Amino acid sequence: MPRYEFRCRACGDTFEVNRPMAQAGEPASCPQGHADTVKLLSTVAVTGRGGPGAAAPAPSGGGCCGGGCGC
Ligand SMILES: [Zn+2]
Repeated sequence: MPRYEFRCRACGDTFEVNRPMAQAGEPASCPQGHADTVKLLSTVAVTGRGGPGAAAPAPSGGGCCGGGCGC
C-alpha cells in the first residue's frame, strides 16, 4: 500500500498515512486532530526519480589552494 506524507498547517507536524491509491487525494487529519493538512510528495514518487541530469556532480576538491593543504 502506498505511503503518503502529509503536513499539518495548524501545528506544523508531518505525518505519514498508509492508504489505497484510490484515496490518495482525500484529506487526512493530523495526529493532533487538525484537518488543515496538505499532502506532500509521496515517498513512492521520490524514490522513482533519477533520470538523466539528476545525478549531482561530486565536489571536486578545488577549494582555495587546490586541496593540497587541507584548508
Ligand atoms: Zn496538527
